[in-house]
Amino acid sequence: MLDVQKIRDDFPILTREVNGKPLVYFDNAATSQTPQVVIDAIVAYYSSYNANIHRGVHTLSQEATDAYEIARKKIQEHFGAKHAHEIILTSGTTHSINIIATGFTSLLSKGDEIIVSALEHHSNIVPWQMLCERTGAILKVIPMNEDGELVMNVYDQLLSNRTKLVFTNHISNALGTINPIEEIIEKAHRIGAAVLIDGAQACPHVKPDVKALDVDFYVASAHKLCGPTGVGMLYGKEEWLNKLPPYQGGGEMIEQVTFEKTTYAGLPHKFEAGTPNICGGIAFGVALDYMNSIGFENIAAYENELLEYGTQKLLEIEGLKIYGTSKNKTSVISFNLDNIHPYDVGTIVDKLGIAVRTGHHCAQPIMDFYKIPGTVRASFSFYNTKEEIDALVEAVKKAKMMLS
Ligand SMILES: *Cc1c(COP(=O)(O)O)cnc(C)c1O
Repeated sequence: MLDVQKIRDDFPILTREVNGKPLVYFDNAATSQTPQVVIDAIVAYYSSYNANIHRGVHTLSQEATDAYEIARKKIQEHFGAKHAHEIILTSGTTHSINIIATGFTSLLSKGDEIIVSALEHHSNIVPWQMLCERTGAILKVIPMNEDGELVMNVYDQLLSNRTKLVFTNHISNALGTINPIEEIIEKAHRIGAAVLIDGAQACPHVKPDVKALDVDFYVASAHKLCGPTGVGMLYGKEEWLNKLPPYQGGGEMIEQVTFEKTTYAGLPHKFEAGTPNICGGIAFGVALDYMNSIGFENIAAYENELLEYGTQKLLEIEGLKIYGTSKNKTSVISFNLDNIHPYDVGTIVDKLGIAVRTGHHCAQPIMDFYKIPGTVRASFSFYNTKEEIDALVEAVKKAKMMLS
């Protein structure tokens, strides 16, 4: 089991106060907090070996290049990819998705179909709509049910020989639902479609194995995994990454440049034009080491305990409704109080030092499904405690008293 008090000592921010109260940070689904080892790695980079990578013969450049490539290796191992060059370092999930969505422009024709899920983050809807506009392809949506689960028999009906791509998140950021991605991938492959899984919300809770999943593309952001913002990853099967054209032109992604013709570099550099977030990439690797040292099984078991405890305690409040009631979910609780606007609840609990997210959580279609303007979302991480959940419950009761 995990020693939460010891873990909390790793996170300097958790000792601060907000509005005169101890900070209770329950906005982990938006971004995670940063442990001291990751902060140290960032400071070490800028204080001792800050240099541009891959091009220099000088010592600093070689040290930075080595550290960056070690990080890529760590990411490869963590996600179970066959080759390090199947890991593209990006600025985050959104960037990773756009690389694929843009790349498929040349591979789709009018009338081809792309299937997405009703549980998507906006970053996983808009790039496909833009792709459809460019190519004449058609977007189909796997619907959701009242519990916030995908309706899989409709998925079966949507699949056809026109389906070229299927996109869904691994875990929904708005509701916490864990989607049956094994089944989604297997069925898509049967009819020859490629699958991209958005793992941004899953990776803080589970350790995906891209080889075992046999997924074609898998994407994530470091900042939800105890790493810094502005860096993320795109895993792609080698044969797919070779098939896709580069996303951006620039330095680093070329083999030879003349004004007559330029040839592109091999993987992974073909997709890494320009100077990357070098420090961020290195810190991403350190963040993965940190989370693996705690262990994803321990993390999942503890967060499940928090989820059960929080669900039970919050439901004791009269008039509180939880959205997203799948049995298969992670530590995200999206809720509303009777007719009270989520923003008002969020404002009052913030006065009591508690950070929750309010609004549509970049998933407007889900809110439309429930016919609500948004929810209050409390998302728990392995460094949160039951005492903090008690503080949230008290704060929500107070908000209810003040607002009703
Ligand atoms: C956070 C999130 C994203 C977007 O990630 P960025 O780091 O902002 O690019 C996409 N999908 C899901 C499910 C997310 O939770």
